[in-house]
Amino acid sequence: MFFSGSESEKRGKKVIKNLYYFSENQMLDCNQYVIEDSNTDELALFDAGNGMSLKGLFKGMEKFNLDPSNITRVFLTHEHIDHVLGLYPLMVKLKENPPEIYAFGETVKILEKGEKSQICPDILGIDLTMFGIEIIPLKVNELINSNNVKVSPDFNFQIHYTPGHSLGSICYYDFTNKLLIPGDLVFTGGSFGRYDFPGGSLNALVNSIKYVNNLDVKYLLPGHMGISNQGNEQIAFSYRMIQSISSFY
Ligand SMILES: [Zn+2]
Repeated sequence: MFFSGSESEKRGKKVIKNLYYFSENQMLDCNQYVIEDSNTDELALFDAGNGMSLKGLFKGMEKFNLDPSNITRVFLTHEHIDHVLGLYPLMVKLKENPPEIYAFGETVKILEKGEKSQICPDILGIDLTMFGIEIIPLKVNELINSNNVKVSPDFNFQIHYTPGHSLGSICYYDFTNKLLIPGDLVFTGGSFGRYDFPGGSLNALVNSIKYVNNLDVKYLLPGHMGISNQGNEQIAFSYRMIQSISSFY
């Protein structure tokens, strides 16, 4: 079966103190990141995964003594199915103490309306019923471009609006730790996000990658594939790749 691996553990890795990476599980899942506030034990989760992988994330977290019921905030990079569908089962699991959800611009609007066609674009050819998850309107806190979000005493992220992959795409950038969570803007190995989904734009993607290419980044923590501690080299590689593609148009 297509999604039969969904219960398997999401493999975790400590990136730096109080920051953990859980790698994507199977098709149509995403990488997730957990930040622990060592004073309060509260956890912040970056991206929600596809929902089918939620149990696997919880299993992976337990290995690092991270208690999923301590998730108090979920920060989203953008509105796509593989990053947000996990919100719905997560809110059910944590209904005693539901986490606050944070996102930017269009992502907020789409989630508050529960707009299936934006969360799961037809172009993917995915039948949402395969996931057995119902999309319902959610309350979402709106992040503001270039504002800062203090996630814990150790992590302070600036919000950077970086369209191109989708209308609601942002990067979370921590200057002190030189850490970038770019969602599906840039990946390692010279890859970058697709720009053929609704609201996508190659031009905007090039400009957004150019923009993050000027940030000081050691840790690149993208929405798919591997992570890197040579962030600037990786972003520059992706920037060269997308420039070579865009020159054909
Ligand atoms: Zn996406």
